[in-house]
Amino acid sequence: MKASFSKVSSFYFCPKKYEYRYVMELPVPTKAELVFGTALHAALEANFAQKIETRRDLPVEELLEVFRKELSEGLEKVPEESLRGPSDVHYLRGMGEHFLSRFMAERAPALQPAPRGVECFFLLPLPGGHEISGKFDLMDTDWVLHDFKTSNKPYDRRRADKTQLVLYAWACERMFGRFPTALCFDVFVKGDGGEGAMDMQEPILFPVPSPGEMSQVAQRLQRQIEKILEVQEKNAFTRAFVPLRCKWCEYQTVCTADWEKEGKPEPARVRMDYLV
Ligand code: SF4
Repeated sequence: MKASFSKVSSFYFCPKKYEYRYVMELPVPTKAELVFGTALHAALEANFAQKIETRRDLPVEELLEVFRKELSEGLEKVPEESLRGPSDVHYLRGMGEHFLSRFMAERAPALQPAPRGVECFFLLPLPGGHEISGKFDLMDTDWVLHDFKTSNKPYDRRRADKTQLVLYAWACERMFGRFPTALCFDVFVKGDGGEGAMDMQEPILFPVPSPGEMSQVAQRLQRQIEKILEVQEKNAFTRAFVPLRCKWCEYQTVCTADWEKEGKPEPARVRMDYLV
C-alpha cells in the first residue's frame, strides 16, 4: 500500500473519518484555518525557493502579497457563516502579516536553504513492500531540517510524534545522502481567538532519532498499514468518538446521520500503540 503519513494518522485518529475521506472520498469542506496555514506556507516557500539561487530574502512586502492573494482566493471557498471570530478574514490577514513580518526580521536572515532543500516531497520504502510519502518544508545549509507549523496552542515537545521525526530523518538521508544534524519545528501559535496568546514560538529542536527508534518506527508503520488494509478488507471502520460530540470534524453531519441509522453503536478507538 502507498500511503501518506497524514493518511495513516487519520485512520488512528478515527477509522470512520478515514473511511469518509479516503475510501468514500467525500469532499472535505474547506476550513479557514487550513487556508491560513496554506497561505503562510506559500509565502515562506516563495522566499526560500528563490533564496537557493539569490542567497537573499525577498522584501517582506512581496511575501505579504503572496500571503494575501493565497488567503483571499482560499477563503472564497469557505462558507461565509464560518468566517467569524478567530476565522474572521481581517483577523486572519492581520495575524499572517504579523507572523511573516516577525519571521522575516528575526529568523529568515539566518536561514540559507540547501540546494533542492525547499518543499521536499519524499516517498520511502517500508518493510512488507509498502511505501510512505510526505513533505517537509526546508533543509538549511547547516543540515537542520525545518517544518513550519501553525497551531492553536503552543506546541508541546513532549508530545512530538516520533514517527514524523523518523520519516523526516529518512527522507533527508535519501535525498541528500546524509542524516540531518537536527530537526526543527518552527511553530506559529494562532491562539484561540479569545484569551489564548498569538505568538511565534521559539524554534523547537529535536535530535535525530537513534537507529533503534528508526527500526521500531519502520516495523510499527508496516503493522499499522497492514491493520488499515485488514479493516478496509472487512469494511469495518469503527467510530472513535460519539459523533454528536465531534464538533471539529468536517464529517460530523453525515456521521451523526449514519450513526443514528445504525442504532447508535458504541464508539471503539483503535490505539496506535497496541501494534508495537
Ligand atoms: S464525527 Fe467523530 S466519529 Fe464521526 S467521523 Fe468524525 S471524528 Fe469520527
